[in-house]
Amino acid sequence: MFSGQHRRLALIATAGVLALGAIIYFIATTQRDSTKEIAFSDFLRLVESGGVAEVMFADQAIDATLRSGAHVMTVPPVGYVAANPTLVPDLVRRQIRIVVRHPAEPGAYNLGALALAAAFLGLVGFTLYRVTSGRIPSLENKPRLASQDTAPITFKDVAGVDEAKDEVKEIVDFLKAPERFAAIGGRIPKGVLLVGPPGTGKTLLARSMAGEAGVPFLLSSGADFVEMYAGVGASRVRKLFREASRHKSCIIFIDELDAVGRRRGGNSLSHEEREQTLNQLLVEMDGFATRQGIVVVAATNRPDILDPALLRPGRVDRQVMVGCPDLKGREAILGVHCRKVALDGTVELRAIARGTPGLSGADLANLVNEAALLAARAGREKVTTADLEAARDKVLMGVERRSLALTEAERVNCAYHEAGHAVVAALLPHADPLHKVTIIPRGRALGVTMQLPEQDRHTHTKDYLQAQIAILMGGRVAEELFMNHMTSGASNDIERATDIAQKMVCELGMSSLGPMAFRHGSEDRPFTLSEDSARRVDSEVREIVMHGYHVAHDLLGSNREAVRALAAQLLEVESLDGSEILTILQSNGAPVQNGATAG
Ligand code: ADP
Ligand code: MG
Ligand code: ZN
Repeated sequence: MFSGQHRRLALIATAGVLALGAIIYFIATTQRDSTKEIAFSDFLRLVESGGVAEVMFADQAIDATLRSGAHVMTVPPVGYVAANPTLVPDLVRRQIRIVVRHPAEPGAYNLGALALAAAFLGLVGFTLYRVTSGRIPSLENKPRLASQDTAPITFKDVAGVDEAKDEVKEIVDFLKAPERFAAIGGRIPKGVLLVGPPGTGKTLLARSMAGEAGVPFLLSSGADFVEMYAGVGASRVRKLFREASRHKSCIIFIDELDAVGRRRGGNSLSHEEREQTLNQLLVEMDGFATRQGIVVVAATNRPDILDPALLRPGRVDRQVMVGCPDLKGREAILGVHCRKVALDGTVELRAIARGTPGLSGADLANLVNEAALLAARAGREKVTTADLEAARDKVLMGVERRSLALTEAERVNCAYHEAGHAVVAALLPHADPLHKVTIIPRGRALGVTMQLPEQDRHTHTKDYLQAQIAILMGGRVAEELFMNHMTSGASNDIERATDIAQKMVCELGMSSLGPMAFRHGSEDRPFTLSEDSARRVDSEVREIVMHGYHVAHDLLGSNREAVRALAAQLLEVESLDGSEILTILQSNGAPVQNGATAG
């Protein structure tokens, strides 16, 4: 009895703490929104300087729309408005639009507070209920339906991720006319996974898909499904899909899929509950096989930890990369967000974009809002280049603390490293054609050189494997030749090159040791290399890798101009596709041997 009492107390306390956390989270998230809270004195000064276009008296707070398009809110001292009868005439004189929100009509803030109070009561009640009867409750939170009154978000609002947009277009077409798709007998897409770092526009892209197709958008987050009470997560999943099936067609968006979709079989405290939730999700996804146009769009920045069952055909089987934007992309994103502010005619967005490498779409949206605020504070009617630059410095500082952006020295090194890979790949006849090279950081990699085979390769020739090794060496060689140093950035290249060479010697019989398999001992094959063989294998592997190194060294050493030109262009625009690279190399006298794969 005594311990039961204790548990009850502990549970109630947990509920309290959870609700408190929710309140703090709510406040934090609403403020992170584009509306910024400013001091009341600053607000008065803004009015004074003529920077305010519209004020809305909402309950306790004043929301103001600035001439620059930015939104701010402030809270006046208690009774200020009543005690200063000149305030309203003053606003009228200044031709500021005045909106008063009726107190009986609950605003967004009140709604939030109401919901929280309800959630708190619900949580406490549910806790008591659970403790007293011990039955599994069916506490639910309804999937949030995106509000219909605001203009729908469309592809126009998403910029700098053209490849991702192209990939999801087909799904939009399907959602527009699911029956037609089914009649033709085409494979109906069921799920897409948007993969990319935070703030790159995954949520935005998902929303725009719904907007483009004109279908409802059911928003949920993996975190919503993770509860410590058994069965709650699974029942929420069921509810979500039941809600979805009420619509002719719709998008179910699951943000942070990794929160619920982690690989099963872990041994964390709540793993049983999560597995149950995940299983339910899989069941639901299989369930709507023949039903109408429901598409699950999920987002994550950790695809590697997802349960493989989720990614199987017929489930979330398509992955779309949503990466950080390159120069052109950043310019386009700035353009999207500047549509909403009054911009000085002399502003060149390309220049601002050039000064913001490594920033995500969310960072850029933030930058534009900051600039609008700065302009308003200074009493300017339009946002100038100086405002944008000051805002950029402010945003960059925040980003650097997150250590996302590379230092300039790292960028230069990365550009030469990738140029090294690319030039070797372009000059070797047996290599796959170049597809794309970028120096935009993604995950742990600072840059990427991508090649795509012209057709699927099922077997590899010795020439091809040797070319692979030389290309891998190209990065390190370029660092040595052009930077006069070596960096740790080549470690993965070196590992992969060594692996290939080892395979060539030990499995493929492509060395002077002849067509023999050399295996290291393992449990089921207690056969080990003789000491002599091991030594000869090592020296063969070293020879093959060093051969690749010398090939790369010769090619890069005799085409320095081409490498420099390519690196310079990469620094400028951050990503180049295969044909652009070949043009640069050819106009700098490099004997290109290899085509490029289109786009
Ligand atoms: P994610 O879901 O990838 O973390 P969000 O979609 O939530 O990113 O992006 C947050 C905000 O940043 C968006 O609402 C939008 O204002 C801005 N943003 C991010 N990416 C883009 C983009 N590619 N184009 C335009 N705006 C963007
Ligand atoms: Mg998001
Ligand atoms: Zn490399």
